[in-house]
This record gives sequence, structure tokens and C-alpha cells, in this order.
Amino acid sequence: MSRTIEIVEVGPRDGLQSEPGVMPTAAKIDFIERLIDAGLRRLEVTSFVNPKKVPQMADAEQVLAGLNKRHDVRYVGLVLNHKGFERAVAAGCNEIGMAVVASDTFNRRNQGVGTDESITAWLEIAREAHAIGVRPQVTVSAAFGCPFEGEISVDRVIEVAKRVAEANPFEVAFADTIGVGVPSQVTEILTRAAEALPGVRLRAHFHNTRNTGLANAYAAVAAGVSALDSSAGGIGGCPFAPAATGNIPTEDLVYMLQRMGVSTGIDLDKLLATGEWLQQTLGRGVPGMLLKAGRFPQSTAQAA
Ligand code: MG
Repeated sequence: MSRTIEIVEVGPRDGLQSEPGVMPTAAKIDFIERLIDAGLRRLEVTSFVNPKKVPQMADAEQVLAGLNKRHDVRYVGLVLNHKGFERAVAAGCNEIGMAVVASDTFNRRNQGVGTDESITAWLEIAREAHAIGVRPQVTVSAAFGCPFEGEISVDRVIEVAKRVAEANPFEVAFADTIGVGVPSQVTEILTRAAEALPGVRLRAHFHNTRNTGLANAYAAVAAGVSALDSSAGGIGGCPFAPAATGNIPTEDLVYMLQRMGVSTGIDLDKLLATGEWLQQTLGRGVPGMLLKAGRFPQSTAQAA
């Protein structure tokens, strides 16, 4: 496979929001700068949500203010409504990601309104974002299953995707928010999405809750996605999704893609060093496997 996959690093948001403790702002900034130094050029750096519900992200504005902004990096802020969008723009995000949940029950639990209301809000947010030069993209969450409603039909997922795509987003993503998806499902959803949304860039977001994360990532690459989300060390989850565990680990994903001949533009040695830093900073091991096993073949730096 000679092609490129863009990796969107979500550790500073999806990863850290599920930590029992709150990482100090300065450490978050250090984390993000290390990831950029390793070659990541698109990062979900924080979310602009209710700090009472997600105290780990209460310092969103301070994180953005403390970053050494680069023109070649997309600093993505996750938003769930118009208020979050306003905060993200004011804080200096040059891309916003909105999440709309395919399951109405989950959308109500997560965002306090039904899916239809979130879609209406998204259409307005995207219109305003385009008008001020902030890149808008949108994720259809719980696309592979819902902790409250169970199976979500592919028809429903595609219907939501078509409605959010009306806003002409930079990209539409499909998220396995609770980590229940399997590769055949990935193939079906992404193939149908490509048919239903011709010319639209597609991205996928997987959690490794049931150990299917990398298999799903492979299926998504084969189905033609342009980008994949992952988190350094495989940290993460969702505070409102019971037993959701980490995202697919960025370094494991980069290892797999590089060995397949897919380029990512990421320096794996620097990424592994960031993973080591993360373990030290969190004071515990992380789920990623490459940090335990090491890369193969060894890098020239390690061999020398
Ligand atoms: Mg997630």
C-alpha cells in the first residue's frame, strides 16, 4: 500500500478526559508540543464542554493560550454546542470538531439534547465557522453501537451522516465511541458512507475496549479513509460510556502503517519517547503495546 494516512492525535482530549486525576496545564502543553515535535500536525488539543461535567478539560482556554502556535498545525477543539464553538474560536482553535451521536439516547445523556437538535446546532456552527475561516469537521459518534440503545442500524448512521454533511464540512468521521465495532462493520459503514457522501473526506475513530481497535483501523484504511484518530499510549475512554477504555495507541498504529508501507509523516522514535514521558508523568503504564515490546526492526539510533 503506497499511500498516506493522516493521524489525528486525540490523547490530549479523549485520552486525558478519562484520567481519574487532572493533568496540570503546563504538562498538557508539554504533551502537545512533544507530539507536534514527533510529527503530528493535527491534534484534538482539548474540548470546550461544561467544566462541571468534564473537570479534566476545564483549562481549555489556558492550554490554547500556552501553546507555541505553528501555522502548519491544526489545533482542534471538540465542541458539542454553539457555546462551546464560541469558546473554541475565542481561544484560537483553527479547526473545530463537533460530535453528533447516532443514538438519540446517548446524545441526550452526553449533550443534553436529542440528535436532531445537535444536528441543527451543527449546521449553524459549520456555517459560522466557514464564514470566519475556521475549519469545521463533524463526527458521527456511537456509529458502531450504543451503551443504552444497543445496535444502531447502518441506515440510521448513514442518515445522520448525510444530514451533517449538508454543512459542507472538511470531513465526516465515524466513531466507535464505546469500542464495540468489528472490521466487517467498519467495511460496511465506510463503504456505504463513501457511496452516500461522494467526494467527502472520511475519518474513523476507534477504541480498543474489546481489542478490535487495530483490526478496525486496518479495515478503515482498506475502505479508503483519509485519516484515523488515535491517542498516544492508548490512553482514553469516555466518562459517559460505561467501561469504554482507551483509543487505539498512536505508536502502535504508526508502527503497523509504516510496516505496511503507508506513510504518516511521524517519527516513531520521538513518538515512543513521548509515550515514555507520558508513563512517567501519569505515574503508571499505558495500554500501548509497542512501548512494551519495542519497534522492529530497531531504529538506526537504537542499533548504533
Ligand atoms: Mg472517543
